[in-house]
Amino acid sequence: MKIRNINGTSDNTCKCGSWLKHWENFSGQTKPTYCPATGCMKTDIVGAHVQKGGGSTDQKWYIYPLCAGHNKHTGELEVSDSYKLVSANKKETCDK
Ligand SMILES: [Zn+2]
Ligand SMILES: [Zn+2]
Repeated sequence: MKIRNINGTSDNTCKCGSWLKHWENFSGQTKPTYCPATGCMKTDIVGAHVQKGGGSTDQKWYIYPLCAGHNKHTGELEVSDSYKLVSANKKETCDK
C-alpha cells in the first residue's frame, strides 16, 4: 500500500508513552524488525504519523511503524501491507 508521511508533527506524546507503543497497543501487532518500506533494512523503528496515499480521499492521520530515516521522508512511500494503520486520533484510541 501507499502512505504519505506527515511532517512537522509536534504532538509527540500520548498516554501510551510513545507513538510506536501506541501503534503496538492498537494494532495488536509487534514492532517490525526491519522498516516495512520497500527495500529498506533499517531497524531504528519509530511510530510515524502518516496519511493514506495513492490518491486516497481519507485525510485522517494514522500511525505506522517506519525507520527514523523514512519518518523524515516527504511524499509517498510504498510499504508492506502486513502492518496495520492505527488511528492517531487519541479520542478514538488511548484517550477514550
Ligand atoms: Zn496512545
Ligand atoms: Zn526505512
